[in-house]
Amino acid sequence: MFGGVEIGGTKVICVVGDESGEILDSTRIPAGDPDNAIETALDYFRRAIEAGTKLEAIGIGSFGPIELRREHPRYGWITTTPKLAWINTDVVGRFVAALGLPVGFDTDVNAAALAEGRWGAARGLRSYVYLTLGTGVGGGAVIAGSVIHGLGHTEIGHIAVARRPGDEYPGICPYHGDCLEGMASGPALEARFGQRAETLTGPRQIVATALVAYYLANGCRSLVYSMAPERIVIGGGVGLMPGLASAAHAELVTQLAGYPGLPEHADPLFLVPAALGSMAGPAGTLLLAQGAV
Ligand code: ZN
Repeated sequence: MFGGVEIGGTKVICVVGDESGEILDSTRIPAGDPDNAIETALDYFRRAIEAGTKLEAIGIGSFGPIELRREHPRYGWITTTPKLAWINTDVVGRFVAALGLPVGFDTDVNAAALAEGRWGAARGLRSYVYLTLGTGVGGGAVIAGSVIHGLGHTEIGHIAVARRPGDEYPGICPYHGDCLEGMASGPALEARFGQRAETLTGPRQIVATALVAYYLANGCRSLVYSMAPERIVIGGGVGLMPGLASAAHAELVTQLAGYPGLPEHADPLFLVPAALGSMAGPAGTLLLAQGAV
C-alpha cells in the first residue's frame, strides 16, 4: 500500500491506495496554513498505520516552485511560491521525520502527467506532454519514459505565446503579463469575460473557446517543436471546456503550417482531453510513492 499527498492552492488531498492506482481511502484538508495542513496530513497517515495499513512509501505532488535537486539543502521544499504562507516550507523533511518512510516528491502536474500515462489519455506512450488549464496553467512532460527534470522542473505555463492578432489584453501573469498562463488561465478568462469560462454559454462560449484554443495551440506548437511529444493531453477546468481540445487541435494544425508534415500531428488523437479528471493528481502521487521505494 502507498500513501499519496496532493498539495494544491486551496486544499491538500491525502489518499491511501495500491499500485493499480485504486484509491481506498482519502481525506481533504484546507491548505491555508502549512503547519496545520502538514500536521493534519501526518495524523491521517499515522492513523492509517495504527489501523494496520502497511504503507511502503509516500508520494507528494505539490504546486511549485519546489526544490527537486537531492543534493540541495532545501531539497523537498516549496520555495518561492506566490502562495505567501507556503514560502520556504519543508515538506519532504517533515514526512520523512514523522513517518520514517521513503518519500517521492514532484510537482502536482508531473504527478498528474504520470497518472495520465499509466491509466489515462496517454496510456502506452513513451513521450507526451500533459497540460492543465485552470487557476493557473501547468504542464509535465514525459519524454522517453521519464519526467523531464533538470535545473528544477519545467514551468510550461510560463512559455511565451504569440499575441493573437487584434488581442490587446495585457495578460495577468505577475511576472510576464502575456505568457500562456497570463493569456489563457481561468483568472485571465474571468477578467476578460466577467465570469468563469466554464460557465459561459452561447456565442460568448464560442468566442472564449476560440481564444483559448489559439493560445493553447500556440503553446503546443512550441512543445511540438522542442519536445517531440507523441501526444498532448489537456486537463483542468478550463482545459476540459466542451470543444476546446478539438478546436485547439485544429488551430495547432493551422499553426504548424505543414511543417514538419507528420501525419500524426494532424490526427485528432494528437491533442486530446485528459481522461482522469481531478483524480489524475492523487493517483499520480501513488506513482511517485512507488518510485521512491
Ligand atoms: Zn508567466
